[in-house]
Amino acid sequence: MAKNIAILGSTGSIGTQALEVTDKLNGKIKVTAISGGKNTNLLLEQAKKYNPKYVCVQSKDDAQILQNKLSGTKVLFGDEGLNVIASLNEIDLVLVALSGKTGLKPTITAIQNKKDIALANKETLVMAGDIVMRLAKENNVKILPVDSEHSAIFQCITNREAVKHLIITSSGGPFRTSSREEMEKADLSEALAHPRWKMGKKITVDSATLMNKGLEVIEAHHLFNFKYEDIKVIVHPQSYIHSAVEYNDGSIIAQIGNPSMHIPIQYALTYPERCEGVETESFNFIKASKFEFYKPDLDKFPALALAIDAGKKGGTYPVCMNAANEEAVFAFLENKIKFLQIYEITKKIYDSYTGIQNPSIDEILSEDEKVRTQTKELINKMRNL
Ligand code: MN
Repeated sequence: MAKNIAILGSTGSIGTQALEVTDKLNGKIKVTAISGGKNTNLLLEQAKKYNPKYVCVQSKDDAQILQNKLSGTKVLFGDEGLNVIASLNEIDLVLVALSGKTGLKPTITAIQNKKDIALANKETLVMAGDIVMRLAKENNVKILPVDSEHSAIFQCITNREAVKHLIITSSGGPFRTSSREEMEKADLSEALAHPRWKMGKKITVDSATLMNKGLEVIEAHHLFNFKYEDIKVIVHPQSYIHSAVEYNDGSIIAQIGNPSMHIPIQYALTYPERCEGVETESFNFIKASKFEFYKPDLDKFPALALAIDAGKKGGTYPVCMNAANEEAVFAFLENKIKFLQIYEITKKIYDSYTGIQNPSIDEILSEDEKVRTQTKELINKMRNL
């Protein structure tokens, strides 16, 4: 029988690639619900092609327009629409491919309704990892990682008790070999020119500062329940090794493949099964030929250390760090600040922050909101100098 899935964020980078994955799975996966933000044209196109029972869009007006064009489909809107989809009886698995903090609430609703989660939204774990993982355990729900590094680790861990270290690889981003002067002058197009992976804008900028790797360390800490001291980051520019684990007998198991998000998406959707899918080309070791490794340069990429510090402090410290960074990245994307200011702003906000330990979801969301306001104020102040 087909697995019924909901894709939250179907018009984004992960969402569209997930639909491509389902195309090649011969009916193993039925797309029962999709949600998108403002790209109603693409959402409409997807709805016509996949014929889901439910479609959710951000605004009420867009929902009305879509409903008039889709007769057999129920069109929902807003946060409430996402909530409805996350609690539908007929859904087996929810792919959370929303960007930023919007992923948190629907993920929690889906877990409370005993849906397995394919999680592409790392902010959910960065903001509320303790709560999300506890709820998943209580509801006997699987959190299947879609992030390529975490999918790799998930595939490599067959005996959790015997794993000594997690080894997360990083491509090093577009500025791996750049000087500080070059980074100082870097514009949007340079920051968005990721050497290995094709992704959305926010995560691509995070990859250029290595903040993305810091968020991934926090994500790994929650997903696999490892201490921060036991999670290592190594720079591997070729991105062939997507991550690895070291066992206590000295064995290292790594997951290797062509850098394509199709593979981790598919594994999360078909788990525990493996099957032929959209990626048909074998990995070519001879063509790859070179596997290089470097220590991450924390002086050049201090965001990585900042994120790990926030993770170790716990409570709402990662919430603050994440919110300040996200607002700074948005400002950079709008050409309001320079590349290196993303870190400077995040650090400034973080250093003046006093967090809460063991926060509730409401506290997490209000701290998030508070920090975003402060960050926007700081950015405006800096621009007026
Ligand atoms: Mn990743």
